Amino acid sequence: MPGNQKADPNLETTTYGLFSTCERLMRASIVNRGIEYIFFLTSRKGKGRWLTGFYRLGWYCKHSKGDFALAGSEQRFVFPSLGREDLPAELGEVVFSRFRASKRLNTDQTKLLLDLVSEREDVTGNYLQEIDRLERFNLRHTGFRHWGSVDPFDWNEAEDLLKVQTPLLAASSSSSTNNWKCQECKAVIFNRALLRRCPNCRKIGTLREIRRRRSSGKKGSR
Ligand SMILES: [Zn+2]
Repeated sequence: MPGNQKADPNLETTTYGLFSTCERLMRASIVNRGIEYIFFLTSRKGKGRWLTGFYRLGWYCKHSKGDFALAGSEQRFVFPSLGREDLPAELGEVVFSRFRASKRLNTDQTKLLLDLVSEREDVTGNYLQEIDRLERFNLRHTGFRHWGSVDPFDWNEAEDLLKVQTPLLAASSSSSTNNWKCQECKAVIFNRALLRRCPNCRKIGTLREIRRRRSSGKKGSR
């Protein structure tokens, strides 16, 4: 998607935070608390939120202080997804009430949710095929599977990112202008979350936030 390259969570490698800095604080909290499961919700236009599946976490690596990548030992995305009606009322309230980005469940809630998700058919393979299909569509129409790359996300792609320690360059993983400048090739990259790799020159850790300029104070315009 232009301006919102959704590399994460990365189902192709069962990772989160390896390719982008998306949800950095949530990942740090997961590592600090030793959280084992992440459940994923999606929104359907006009039909609210649905629970699609989970990762069971197995490993993490540290990109830099407070910035971790997570890898799952298991992932399960199911069909049909679970809606509020599929959960006991109390759990449904916890899972489907509005919240931003992420929220924590207790042990009992987690266990119950795991049981309910595990009863459904595992269609993770279909998810992976669909991601591949969309990327091949991109490749055909734009020359790239995803931004700046003709290769799928896989562990070859991940290897470089694991070798290089990428210091946390921006105070935030989002930019007020959604624009980032590569210190290496000088390209300006438009994306919501800070990417670890410059899509233009493929160098790692070279993108810096472009801050919003203060108003020039032009008369008659606000
Ligand atoms: Zn670059």
